[in-house]
Amino acid sequence: MSPVLKVEHLSKSFDGVDAVKDVSFDLMPGELKALIGPNGAGKSTCFNMLMGQLKPSSGEVFLRGKPVTGLPPRRIWRMGVGRTFQITGTYQSMTVAENVQMALISHHRRLFAVIPYAYRLYRDEALALLELVGMADQADRACSILAYGDLKRLELAIALSHRPGLLLMDEPTAGMAPRERAALMQLTADIVRDRGISVLFTEHDMDVVFTHAHHIMVLNRGELIAAGTAAEIRADERVQQVYLGG
Ligand code: ADP
Ligand code: MG
Repeated sequence: MSPVLKVEHLSKSFDGVDAVKDVSFDLMPGELKALIGPNGAGKSTCFNMLMGQLKPSSGEVFLRGKPVTGLPPRRIWRMGVGRTFQITGTYQSMTVAENVQMALISHHRRLFAVIPYAYRLYRDEALALLELVGMADQADRACSILAYGDLKRLELAIALSHRPGLLLMDEPTAGMAPRERAALMQLTADIVRDRGISVLFTEHDMDVVFTHAHHIMVLNRGELIAAGTAAEIRADERVQQVYLGG
């Protein structure tokens, strides 16, 4: 099996300061991988380089074997890389279903479709995605009245409307209550299993990470200091030092 994502010696410096230093890893099909580390460790910088938002100072990124280093976000998105945003990117004045329908129109490149027609066309597909994230009963509610946790689930449905093979989630549960966090990651894990997609995510709640991630990488001051299963990471002395400040 060849990796969906291959990262080789990725580095980024800002004004001579290394935010990410020589990071290498593979993400396999169907793998749910966590990138953890203290604030300022370089997690978002990594994500931004993978999504094309930021050009690496050095190193290479490959998607299914194809070099994509430095390509703009739109090109990377077109290659089947989905993402969720830390700040929700929904249209507040539209309903839940309409937001997913908009995403589907964009995915199917029906931007020039007569809008009411396209809406109807993608209604069923939107409802199926909402069903998947457990929001079918909220399809016709306005986004402006959604609870924060529901907005995050909607965001996941929007990301999935693009049928990504790889999903990048930088702190998908930021701002959520602990119970909601666990539920969103459970949902993500189910989707990974059912659809065989690969996910790279960051998360502060270690219980959530240890419960759901198949594989965990620990970043500290831009460098990967450990990688392994939950049991291996829990037992790792360097990781304990970073997190316990010892
Ligand atoms: P994390 O997501 O793990 O909290 P970040 O990737 O956001 O960490 O930040 C890593 C380091 O890079 C921090 O020291 C941060 O201040 C620095 N940094 C991030 N983005 C920029 C930028 N655009 N310009 C300068 N420094 C940056
Ligand atoms: Mg961050």
